[in-house]
Amino acid sequence: MINITGYIHGANTPIGINVRKGFPIYFDERIKDQPLISVSAGKVGRSVRLKQTDLIDLVKGKYIKVRKVGMSMKKIERGARFVAQNKELFRCPTCKAPFSKVEKTTVYCIKEHQFDLSKKGTLYFDQTWCQE
Ligand SMILES: [Zn+2]
Repeated sequence: MINITGYIHGANTPIGINVRKGFPIYFDERIKDQPLISVSAGKVGRSVRLKQTDLIDLVKGKYIKVRKVGMSMKKIERGARFVAQNKELFRCPTCKAPFSKVEKTTVYCIKEHQFDLSKKGTLYFDQTWCQE
C-alpha cells in the first residue's frame, strides 16, 4: 500500500494521495447529501472534517455510482435465489410445511415461520432462529 499511495494501511487520505501522487479520487455519489465529510488526515487515528464540496474541489473528485460487490452479498443473494427456485426441496423444521416464499434473504413457510439466510448464503434450521 505504501508503495502505491505513500501511506500505510489505515492512513490513506484522498487529499494526500491526490496532491502527492496525482491519482484521481472518486466518491460514492450518496455523499452528495452530506454537508460535512471526515477523511483520514494521513496518519493512523487522525482525521480531518471539511465541507464535502470543498473536499471534492480540493481533490478534483468525481461522484460515481457505487455498486455493492462484496462476496458475502453475492453469496447471500445466490443462496436466496437457490432457495426461492427450489422451495420444494425444503420443509419448515418447525411445522413441516413447505416453504412459500423468499423475501430478500428471509425464507417463509406457508405458516409464516421465518428463517434468515446467513451472509454466506447458508440456511441454518436452528430452532432458535425461528420466529413465531
Ligand atoms: Zn413452519
